[in-house]
Amino acid sequence: MKYKRVLLKLSGESLMGERQYGIDNKQVLQYAQDIKAVKDQGIEIAIVVGGGNIFRGLSAEKSGMERAQADYMGMLATVINCMALQNALESIGVETRLQSAIKMEQICEPYIRRRAMHHLECGKIVIFGAGTGNPYFTTDTAASLRAIEIKADVVLKGTRVDGIYTADPEKDPTATRYDEISFQEVYDKGLNVMDMTAITLCQENKLPIIVFDMNKEGNFMKIAEGNPIGTLVK
Ligand code: UDP
Repeated sequence: MKYKRVLLKLSGESLMGERQYGIDNKQVLQYAQDIKAVKDQGIEIAIVVGGGNIFRGLSAEKSGMERAQADYMGMLATVINCMALQNALESIGVETRLQSAIKMEQICEPYIRRRAMHHLECGKIVIFGAGTGNPYFTTDTAASLRAIEIKADVVLKGTRVDGIYTADPEKDPTATRYDEISFQEVYDKGLNVMDMTAITLCQENKLPIIVFDMNKEGNFMKIAEGNPIGTLVK
């Protein structure tokens, strides 16, 4: 295995599967199985889950809501997703801990960095909910931040496409995929990898990012083994 500790970022939308909204339990279970397989190889896994399948602050602002209020709602949405993933993992015998950046003591632990690291060392999967706990940020930024805090080797951004392309492959058939790209090129070309705050955090802290297709069964394992699928940003 190439890595000792990884931070996996799953967007809220990835939890929708074929649906238009909400959570597809079958999809979540497939992710859980892929995650378990990698964990069983001894890799420590922390996970940040987004909330875009339920609520996005920015979209709500466009329809008239106050941004900060809407962002807090978005953060709550991530916790719902985290609980679904936690449920799926536990249903197949994986021990997990859910830590939220916004206190919700009846359903999860508060985010405590040292405790999260201890859980990982004990072989538990740690799921981080509620993003950074602050409005005006995203769960991509939360993923970068938590990865740096817990000293993860890499941020693995699981998406529905198999990497970063020169253009949107769904719109431009001539678009080609990068195997590897530098942080600087991501800025210069204005590529849509993660938001700029997240990218900057990774660059400044020399934390590589791999963007890969999490929807193909077994891909997470391939990445964990160090196979060059997806796009490496470093
Ligand atoms: N959010 C926030 N602060 C954070 C993380 C998330 O305010 O640190 C809010 C924001 O409104 C965002 C929503 O939570 O739109 C859902 O997160 P995100 O859009 O990052 O989810 P994803 O796109 O990964 O599904």
